[in-house]
Amino acid sequence: MRERLTYKGHPVPYITAWSGERLPQPRVVLAADGIAFKGSVAANGNAQGRDPSGVLWQRWALRQGDGMPEYSVVHGPRQRRAMRKLLCQVCGGPSDKNEQGYLWLLEDYRGVAGWPEKEVTTHPPVCRACAPVAARLCPHLENKVVAIRAGGVLVDGVHGNLYERGGGLLPVVKEKKVVFSGDWRVRWMFANQLAATLTNVTIVDLPGLGARRRASA
Ligand SMILES: [Zn+2]
Repeated sequence: MRERLTYKGHPVPYITAWSGERLPQPRVVLAADGIAFKGSVAANGNAQGRDPSGVLWQRWALRQGDGMPEYSVVHGPRQRRAMRKLLCQVCGGPSDKNEQGYLWLLEDYRGVAGWPEKEVTTHPPVCRACAPVAARLCPHLENKVVAIRAGGVLVDGVHGNLYERGGGLLPVVKEKKVVFSGDWRVRWMFANQLAATLTNVTIVDLPGLGARRRASA
C-alpha cells in the first residue's frame, strides 16, 4: 500500500477529483463523424482533440491535493491510469493479486444468474489494506459489497455521456453509458473513465469488509 492522501483526517481515494483540478470544458459540437470540442473541427468536418480511437475526453488538471476533495467525482486521468496499470483505486499503489487474480469490490448482485462473470465495472481494483476503506467510502457499495478475484481483466470500454444528433445544430446527450472499443459510437462519447470487463471471476471472503455493518447493527 502507498501512503493515502488525507483531507481533514479522512482518507481521500486516489481516483477522487479535487476542486482545484476542475477545468472549463469547451462546448461539445458536431463533427463529420461524431462529436468534438468547439473550435476543434476543421472546415472539412474532421475533428481534432480526440484520442486515436476517436474518443473525446473530459479535461482535467493534474493537481491532486489542490483545494477540496469531491468524493462523488472521479478524476478521469487518475482513474484511467489505475485501470490500465491495475492500481488500487484508494492509495494508487499496486492492487492485490494472487493465483485467483486481482482483487475487486463489486456491488452485490448474487441473486442474478451468471453474476459476476463478465461484470463490467468502472471502479479500479483495490489492495488488501485499502479494501475496507473503499467499502466504507464508496456510496454504491454501502451495505451491499462483495469481494471478488478476477483472473482476466479486459480494459475495453469507455464510460461517459453518449451523444447523438439532436434536431438542432448541437448534439444532445442521449444517455450515460459504457461503449466498448470497436463500436462506432465511441466517436459520440464525451468520456471520463475506462471500464473493465472481468472474467474468470471468483467470489472471495475478505475479513474486515463487513466491519461497518456489524458496527452499525
Ligand atoms: Zn491501496
